[in-house]
Amino acid sequence: MSLFVHKFGGASLKDAASIKNVANIIQQQSTPSIIVISAIGKTTNDLENVVKSAFFKSNPPEQYLESIKTQHQNIIHSLFHSISYQKEEEVQQLINKHWAYVEQLIRQDVIYPFGQFYDQIVSVGELVSSTIVSEYLNAIGCYNTWLDVRQVLLTDQQWRAANIDWTNSLRRFEEIVRPFLSDTARIVTQGFIGGTSHGFTTTLGREGSDYTAAIMAYFADADSVTIWKDVEGVLNADPRYFKNPQKIDELSYYDAIEMTYYGATVIHPKTIKPLQNKSIPLKVKSFIHPEASGTLIHQPQQTKRITTYSYLPNQVLITLQSQDFSFFAEPQIQQCFQIINNYGLKINLMQNTALNFSICITYDEVIFKNFISELQKHFKVLFNQNVAILTIRHYVSNTLSSLLEGKEVLLEQRTRHHVQFVLREK
Ligand code: ASP
Ligand code: MG
Repeated sequence: MSLFVHKFGGASLKDAASIKNVANIIQQQSTPSIIVISAIGKTTNDLENVVKSAFFKSNPPEQYLESIKTQHQNIIHSLFHSISYQKEEEVQQLINKHWAYVEQLIRQDVIYPFGQFYDQIVSVGELVSSTIVSEYLNAIGCYNTWLDVRQVLLTDQQWRAANIDWTNSLRRFEEIVRPFLSDTARIVTQGFIGGTSHGFTTTLGREGSDYTAAIMAYFADADSVTIWKDVEGVLNADPRYFKNPQKIDELSYYDAIEMTYYGATVIHPKTIKPLQNKSIPLKVKSFIHPEASGTLIHQPQQTKRITTYSYLPNQVLITLQSQDFSFFAEPQIQQCFQIINNYGLKINLMQNTALNFSICITYDEVIFKNFISELQKHFKVLFNQNVAILTIRHYVSNTLSSLLEGKEVLLEQRTRHHVQFVLREK
């Protein structure tokens, strides 16, 4: 039996018309299928504002929540009103339960650490969107079962970047999901979220719904995963930063991992590995032109060398030195890694000399100050905020100078296939 996984992101669900378009696409796909849904539009960002204002008591969180509720209510009205008033009420009631939970969390004195509080609230975006999509599909005769993915994807308690417990999640998949997968089955579920064995909700990291789709495909032994985007496929350069990007027809898993790791936001970087391990092809297609071919990521017979350009903004370049001017060697590097790991940070680039150790990390306003003070306890610390990493794979040497024109390069690193520059952002 063939099985297909589809993932729809926030941009494809931004209003009622978009959701109808998604429903149309889903209806045309072969079954059985697992459909992974992100939060509607920019709901995750909006819920982050609820979390921050409630946690840090900066603004009244209710003001952010109200606008999220209104946006969803309008969508529910547009989708269901013409079906029946009763249906609209019924869906609204289902959604209200989730809002009530958020209200309860922001009203009570905060008892959780930031990350745990964040995950309980931000995850509601996906619970709500997947409910709306599932209900709408059922209402138009595209029958499906709504799955609470937190029952299946078990994780550790690394809040905001939870790690999957592969063994127990697979067991849950076989128990809970597999029995549903008949020829005509459609399962609608949430991306981005998981659950701990203690019943808390976790999140897998921003834009993590792609990763959810890959995990589900891995467990299901799916025939393919399709990620539906607002672009025609994977481009060789991010259109926000580069002129005239070209669509790539076919890409190897290897190149796709390298590209996404260094900032190609088209797919979440963790998505590819589970698919590669089982040779499951990944298609990136346009929800605006669903008939177009998109990009196929798999293991091609022959790998073409395509020059790709990635740009990772919002970086901080940190340079560390020993406090006593001894060499910056293995013991110091080890200590530095320990601190980075304790803060749940990821190094995007590093370089060392005898006396200096430089790293680039993504700026995170919540932890940055504490992180730097922790480093200062052990090292001399210099840092540059507002920098970016430009990565070019399969680069052509004589085209580099034009790319760097007018840019200040703070650090450079080169291998035969790969060149990276840390640039000051304007
Ligand atoms: N809604 C989540 C986010 O915006 C997850 C996702 O879209 O993949 O980060
Ligand atoms: Mg999203």
